[in-house]
Amino acid sequence: MTSVLSLPALHASHAGIWLVGPDGAREAGRGEAIRAVSDTPHILLNAPLAGQRLGYAEVSGLDLLELFAFIHPARFVVPTVPGLASFVGLDTPADEAAAAALLPAIAGRLLATLGEEDWAAREGAWTINATLHRLGWGWAGLVGQRLRRPERGERMLFSRLEPWEEAAERPPARVIRLGDGEAEARLAQLTGAGSETREGQRAFAGAAAHAFAPRDRRDAPNVLLAEAGTGIGKTLGYLAPASLWAEKAGGTVWVSTYTKALQRQLDAEGRRIVPDEEQRKKRIVVRKGRENYLCLLNLEDAMQGSFSGRAAVLAQLVGRWAAYSKDGDMVGGDLPGWLPSLFRRAGATALTDRRGECVYAGCPHYRKCFIEKAERASRGADLVIANHALVMVSAARGRLGGGLERIVFDEGHHLFDAADSTFAVALTGAETIELRRWIIGPERSSRGRRRGLAARLLDVCSYDEEGAVALDAAVQAAGLLPGDGWLGRVVEGLPLGPLEALFAAVRSSVLARARAEDAGYGLETELAEPDAPLVEAAAAALVALEALQRPMTALRLRLEAVLEDAPDWLDAAARARVEGAIAGLNWRGGAVAAWAQLLARVGGAADPDFVDWMNVDRIEGRELDIGFQRRWLDPTRPLAKAVIEPAHGVLVTSATLRGGEEHWEVANARTGAAHLPTAPAHFHAASPFDYASAAEVLVVTDVRQGDLAALANAYARLITAAGGGTLGLFTAIARLKAVQARIADRLARERLPLLAQHVDPIDTGTLVDMFRADPRASLLGTDALRDGVDVPGESLRLVVMERVPWPRPTVLHAARRLAGGGSAYDDRVVKARLAQAFGRLVRRQGDRGTFVMLSAACPSRLLTAFPPGVQVSRVTLDEAVSRVAAARETTGGSVGERGGELRPDPLQRID
Ligand code: SF4
Repeated sequence: MTSVLSLPALHASHAGIWLVGPDGAREAGRGEAIRAVSDTPHILLNAPLAGQRLGYAEVSGLDLLELFAFIHPARFVVPTVPGLASFVGLDTPADEAAAAALLPAIAGRLLATLGEEDWAAREGAWTINATLHRLGWGWAGLVGQRLRRPERGERMLFSRLEPWEEAAERPPARVIRLGDGEAEARLAQLTGAGSETREGQRAFAGAAAHAFAPRDRRDAPNVLLAEAGTGIGKTLGYLAPASLWAEKAGGTVWVSTYTKALQRQLDAEGRRIVPDEEQRKKRIVVRKGRENYLCLLNLEDAMQGSFSGRAAVLAQLVGRWAAYSKDGDMVGGDLPGWLPSLFRRAGATALTDRRGECVYAGCPHYRKCFIEKAERASRGADLVIANHALVMVSAARGRLGGGLERIVFDEGHHLFDAADSTFAVALTGAETIELRRWIIGPERSSRGRRRGLAARLLDVCSYDEEGAVALDAAVQAAGLLPGDGWLGRVVEGLPLGPLEALFAAVRSSVLARARAEDAGYGLETELAEPDAPLVEAAAAALVALEALQRPMTALRLRLEAVLEDAPDWLDAAARARVEGAIAGLNWRGGAVAAWAQLLARVGGAADPDFVDWMNVDRIEGRELDIGFQRRWLDPTRPLAKAVIEPAHGVLVTSATLRGGEEHWEVANARTGAAHLPTAPAHFHAASPFDYASAAEVLVVTDVRQGDLAALANAYARLITAAGGGTLGLFTAIARLKAVQARIADRLARERLPLLAQHVDPIDTGTLVDMFRADPRASLLGTDALRDGVDVPGESLRLVVMERVPWPRPTVLHAARRLAGGGSAYDDRVVKARLAQAFGRLVRRQGDRGTFVMLSAACPSRLLTAFPPGVQVSRVTLDEAVSRVAAARETTGGSVGERGGELRPDPLQRID
């Protein structure tokens, strides 16, 4: 048996490069390291990251993370040397050389697991390793030497998964009213005997019961807007009445979040509500959009040969995971977020059902399908934990039979943005080619098992003549939509068909009128005063869309009639397939109707409810998509109409619902409550934290705007003074990259690791996990980090914002600004963003920290965004650095000595 301890290893970080051989670890130069890894496979950790640090993207080798994914599928680990060391029971390395030296030992411990009797993931390992061996996976030989050959053939993955069970439809929820004090009593039960009573939380639970009272009037739900400051414990505050109502009424409460972190936290809180695990699986269900889940049919295709090279290795590792996954959720579930990025994302998205090509009951895995399982589980659950987009889409499309009657929107300050994207219309090349593929089927080079509507409905239409005629007409009409290579043809001025011609006209208008932006990012221009070629192209495209709309509608009606008057040959499988096609035709037909409506106004009067513009989507100068965009001027109008009004009770809550204002006008407007026939109830509980002593705000006055060197220097000095633990927030990716490039190596030499969104080839969730796990690490990022990072404790003790987060001057922003009171609108947006960013700092009792704004141009009127009592000072950079250092002395001085320590309980959060 080959000893792994004798294998060479490579460790590359911003601090340097280490090669590990028989004599231990030694520093090496870039060239030597590249030669070494090219000659012999080395043990390493995260090959794409190592490749980036080496400046040699082609690096490959024996990646410990791939081995971990094979041996411990569906298990969480922080994907760093300290993270893996802690997982396998080794000491945290004291420095980078020690980290390098540890790599073979980690490999040894991981491989030793294969011989342990109680290894939980043994089933399936032999078979998959044999396939991986054929695919040339580096670890396969070492794994194979240590794996016992199973006595009997292993069951295939697909036979090991549990099927879902069909259940009768749930009866409507009973009409009940929670009695006085019942919600509070349930809260006390959930928080446990002996736990300290939090008055704000008690009051919140009592107030939240309002959303579960019987509704008095149709289309007039009981709505409560509740601002509960950080530290109140609002999740248990609303889960108390929600779970009680669900039990007593036999109904379902949808709890909707904006971030995956909060979804995971709610899932974890479920243990208090239903301690028994088996019961809990039935009563508390996490539900996401179908594009998040693994499609078993796509996986089977990929495992059986439609993927090749590295993508084929990924498919096998995903196959390992699927057998042990809790719910098959590939995005934010128990598939490690870092796994697809190890394969440079090759193939991962093709394993989900992104394009609505599911064949439902026609699929051999239908009874075990993760998507179907999640959907069925949610039908009978007490609590369904979902996200804003899914709740809005489901409610708007009337997907859920009885509808969504009780909804809790947590992170309610994001409702406006979620509604904005949910109710948006995009008529672009990418959207239209997708529709063409859905109807006609795959084109020449497509990967996997995609089939068009025609193939999926072949048997149905062979029995139903009218249906066959409509389907034929739809396929003909879809042929006028853009096809493979459309973008190239449009850019070269050689469009094919009316839609491609339209996008060529759009592109030419955008290039003529858009304000030239830096760095080759998106271009856009208002849809106003269109020139004659654009008006003509829009008219021709409208005719083509209408020609498609008619047979789509006819086909849908025909299929509905077939279901209604079910003929003998319509077995359960065909019925499910027809139902799937009807649902698809419904929402895609809705999209075509919205496109037609948008085109009909080109050259005519604008609709005051909408903001329309044309854009060319680009990244670093490369064009990606072209088309029209339409947004509601106020997206809370469709939100109120389609989602809130039909419900019986809705609770909207957030720590910053009022956006830093004392009154409720902003909250009413941003949540859709202002459009409801009856006024909402309001509740407010201030945070119990003493912000005045826990945090201070420093506005630095002497870092010149536009001076990148000065900006980078300021970041480096502040991070050093804090000893890491810094979240650096940027308003532009280009500046983030420029600062990161200037300071990463310098900080690494002081043992202060720097992680960066948009730079490191790692998904954002994993970056946050890595940041949380190492109190000396710092993290740079943009909007997603400003709004969603939840890192309690000393790992986050300094937030540095490079600029005032003004909204980007887009067509959409200009229209909303005009409608929303001009600069007052901008101020509201900025204050909400500042409040969110500041909110990252103090997550639980005892947290302390400093918020630094590196912009002297921060107007004083915006500073009310911070909690009352927090001291705000305008200071020089020198002064800011010494205050940050002093804060470290008084609070986190010990942190500096704890480099690399893994923090327990990564999901802990106090809201
Ligand atoms: S039922 Fe649909 S989504 Fe599920 S595995 Fe089959 S094809 Fe994929």
